Amino acid sequence: MLKLKNVSKFYYSKGVIASGFSKVNLELDMGEFVVITGESGSGKSTLLNVLSGLDTYEEGEMYINGEETSHYNETDFEEYRRKYVGNIFQNFNLVNSYTVYQNVELALILNGENKKDVKGRILDIIQKVGLSDFVNTKCSKLSGGQKQRVAIARALAKETPIIVADEPTGNLDSKSAEEVVKLLSEISKDKLVIIVTHNLEQVEKYATRLIKMHDGKVLEDKILKKPEIEDKDESRTFADITVSNRFRLGRRNAFNIPAKFVLIFAVFLFISFAVAGTYSSFEKAAYEESIFGFSEFFNDTSDKRIVINKQDKSAITAEEFAKIEAIDNVSRIAKDDTLVDYTMPISDDEYWYYFYGNFTDVKELKDNLTAGRMPENSNEIVLEGSENDYYLSHDLEEIMKKNFYIENYDANGERDTSKPLKIVGVILREGNNGSDKFYVGEEILEQLRLDAAMSANNVKSLFEGQYYHSDASDPNFRITPNKNVPKGEAYVSGMLNDYTQSGRAVGKEIVISADSIYSHDSMTVKIAKTYNKSNLKNLTGVEFKESGEGAIYVNEEDYNNLINKGIFQSSVYVKDAKKLDSTLESLKEMGFNVLPMRDSLSKEGAELVQVISMMKTFMLAVLIVALFFISYFIIRIVLKSRNAYYTTLRTLGASRKISKQLLDIELFLIATIGYAVFMAVMCLVYTGVINQTFVVELANYLSVTSYIILYLIIIAMSYMISHRFSRKLFKDSVMNTYREEV
Ligand code: ADP
Ligand code: MG
Repeated sequence: MLKLKNVSKFYYSKGVIASGFSKVNLELDMGEFVVITGESGSGKSTLLNVLSGLDTYEEGEMYINGEETSHYNETDFEEYRRKYVGNIFQNFNLVNSYTVYQNVELALILNGENKKDVKGRILDIIQKVGLSDFVNTKCSKLSGGQKQRVAIARALAKETPIIVADEPTGNLDSKSAEEVVKLLSEISKDKLVIIVTHNLEQVEKYATRLIKMHDGKVLEDKILKKPEIEDKDESRTFADITVSNRFRLGRRNAFNIPAKFVLIFAVFLFISFAVAGTYSSFEKAAYEESIFGFSEFFNDTSDKRIVINKQDKSAITAEEFAKIEAIDNVSRIAKDDTLVDYTMPISDDEYWYYFYGNFTDVKELKDNLTAGRMPENSNEIVLEGSENDYYLSHDLEEIMKKNFYIENYDANGERDTSKPLKIVGVILREGNNGSDKFYVGEEILEQLRLDAAMSANNVKSLFEGQYYHSDASDPNFRITPNKNVPKGEAYVSGMLNDYTQSGRAVGKEIVISADSIYSHDSMTVKIAKTYNKSNLKNLTGVEFKESGEGAIYVNEEDYNNLINKGIFQSSVYVKDAKKLDSTLESLKEMGFNVLPMRDSLSKEGAELVQVISMMKTFMLAVLIVALFFISYFIIRIVLKSRNAYYTTLRTLGASRKISKQLLDIELFLIATIGYAVFMAVMCLVYTGVINQTFVVELANYLSVTSYIILYLIIIAMSYMISHRFSRKLFKDSVMNTYREEV
């Protein structure tokens, strides 16, 4: 079975050569129960390790079943150990976190057996070594004698022809030792059992052969009994561990030591958050850079706002508005874009209180009122202002009693006090930024829209060969819509008689033109009537005021056709500014020109932002590298305790590749669980259960793609850690690793 011819083994350490044993000749056969004795340092263990293929030899020839082995490489010896040798060690080399059953099973599934096929066999063997009551007990809870019996069971389960045991009784009390030796001798009936001991008495009565060693040499080799050779030449086939068993073992290893699991899990959870945090900071920095700046043209420069108009500069139709509203990311449309940027002051009778802001439809009021109530009449408004506004926070009651007027001055420099506004509700906003907001009803908006349309249009009147601007100092030429004026006609002030040569304005024509960036139009109206102080009310329904004098009243429909022709420019507000690009795309496809507010912003100072963001990026990169190493070292410390486990795997016949795969799977599973918990936390953030600022910020800047990328990063990190660790662990031969352990 085994034959040594002048075999020598040397150790090289630190440049010194030491002899393990030298020129040993031996021939060992099936059925023998070989006992090797000798004082400490005589070379017993070395010989045993060479015989069992755990260690190499330097000189001579070793034959296994007649086959010479000097050409064997690491893999050949792996194969040999797996097929032929079962090892039993002084310190048991069991997996303490596994049960008795799992320890025995391990030897079998590592050799490609199926979980179901081996169950009966394992239970039989456990019974044979007398541990039936402990099948599901963790090995860490067993006594030394019991442990050694598990080790024997494990060696038996492999069904190898050779079993070697190095001081199997060294750590046992004499009673347990006796039992173990007896057990070993029983199994030697159909095997070759080689045991090393320095306690000859314990084994003498069972031994069939006695070998005494001294100083690396065989002193004595006595055959005590002739073995009853039962040469069963069943050649067993060995396969690699099945894929499903790889995952089973990987899973078992991931969870069977709770403290280890929790630690590695915590590391991966930490990595998930840290990498996600880093990633989202990148996104945030890039995003903030893109919106940095301020606009000289627009009052509302929210990054959620897109100004649109049509490429042919025609009015936007109701259907088109409906289509825009149907776009996913669109939250609302401010149809009258002019009003969005139409900022106006309002003040009370005595000009004591003064607020400056823009007018918004009260329907868009979403926040809760800080004080007061919602408007009920057309002249009631809700004021939104900063909580730091002194008057708002101190004089609120007073303010709500006052009349307010829009500071819309006419040509005479007077403001229109005919329509007093009441502030009935107030919203106090946090912080200082932004102008005030006035939430008003449709009626006021309508009036403002006219004003805005006027100021957006350049309206001129051609009268008697002379042009008059409607907003210029001559109040007689302000174009004003009126219901009482028939189409195509105009009622003008009697003052206009003086502008004609004949002294009579009635019957004359006025060509009114309105130019804006969207249209150039004109209409001709015939002066039908002139008015004065006494008949204005009669003609138009408008009260005569000194300051009101001088308007050209035209038919309302005519007016709308010329000046208020429809909505040419609107603002689309999106829900999520980060998805702005795709919304822009959709709008462009519908044929709109688009101007996102972020592009209207002045980029002055952008260079500074760039420098800051570069520094940020650099620091984040440093952080991520540091993170990897911190994680790696923590996990390495945790895994160090696993050295013994992986060494055991290899003495049981697992190759480097398989051992590494098991570690890969173990870390992969824990990393995935860590990531899953991270995802669960993020889900709670999205559903609003968690609203801690850090995680909410994080969630804001992560997209589905970034979650996938993140997961891949985590898995890559787990693989790298596994790779680094196993490279270190499996660099050495099994024996060297084992020695380090012991
Ligand atoms: P035993 O098992 O009989 O006590 P060993 O086989 O362990 O003896 O040791 C035999 C000889 O080899 C001793 O002189 C010992 O010092 C030496 N030796 C054993 N292992 C090593 C090693 N890893 N490196 C160097 N010398 C070793
Ligand atoms: Mg020894």
